[in-house]
Amino acid sequence: MKKKFGIDIGYHKAWRAIQKVVACIRGTPEENYQILPSYLHMMVRKNSGTYTSTKRCGQNRFGYMFFAPVASVADSENNEAYIWFFGEMRKAVQVRRELVFLSDRNQSIANGIRKVFPKTHHGICLYHFEKNLKQRHAKATVINLFQSAARSYKREDFNQLMSQLKSVDKKTYNYIMEEPPERWARSWFPRRCYAMLTTNMVESMNSVLLKGREMPILRMLDFIQETLGEWFYERRKKVFNLDSMLFRINSKVIEFIVDLKKRTCNCLKFQLDELSCPHAIAAINKRYLQKSDYCSNWYSNETWLKTYERHVNTMGDQKS
Ligand SMILES: [Zn+2]
Repeated sequence: MKKKFGIDIGYHKAWRAIQKVVACIRGTPEENYQILPSYLHMMVRKNSGTYTSTKRCGQNRFGYMFFAPVASVADSENNEAYIWFFGEMRKAVQVRRELVFLSDRNQSIANGIRKVFPKTHHGICLYHFEKNLKQRHAKATVINLFQSAARSYKREDFNQLMSQLKSVDKKTYNYIMEEPPERWARSWFPRRCYAMLTTNMVESMNSVLLKGREMPILRMLDFIQETLGEWFYERRKKVFNLDSMLFRINSKVIEFIVDLKKRTCNCLKFQLDELSCPHAIAAINKRYLQKSDYCSNWYSNETWLKTYERHVNTMGDQKS
């Protein structure tokens, strides 16, 4: 401070000043919690389909908050917190047959899932399982065998790799098999897991959102929404670039989405008339495609010709 501004200021005074400025910009924690209910109300209004819920604890204190499809905030990770969390999740996503949970081996998570989603499959993240093995000083060769077995598509391969593992390190084998392979091995998984054998996706999201944890609750919610908004935007853009048949066409202030594969545009002309609308034509031109390929056969030259190919003869002179 002295060097930069020529001011003599003690550490504590500077610290209090920073707190004051932060509170001015982001609001105090008290103010934040006070506005939280109306904030959540607006969040639902602006994002239809969003589900939010909060729970108070003890003497009217903030306990937990949940919002889906996005995130949850809790004061601690214990049994009660997880039962509440999964209860709220159940309200948001409902029970579906294809639903699968994947987590580390945290007992509170397992309890929460068993209690709230008793019929839903709960798998173990391979990365966390591997971490457990490393903590038990399993050798690299053993861990490699475990990973290959878990990732095998065929049960024969799984059995072969696991028996190899057993012959190398019986103790670790027994430890691994305390968890049924249905919970961690692809070939035994009772449901589809779509190449998701680890919770890496969640972990990386966690690390990005870490920055937000330092902020007062409303600023944290802003931060999460902004971050997700950006991610959704970028991925959406990617799909539009990848799928060469989907286009966004901007006309003045309105945006039209043209799907050349389905032959639709949200101006509706394309599908109702089966004739390319200006937006579809713009999309067709972007890809240097044939416009005639995107209209109904009824508009083609051939149909036109067929319709009128016969001569209409006049009756001529009736006397003859
Ligand atoms: Zn259109």
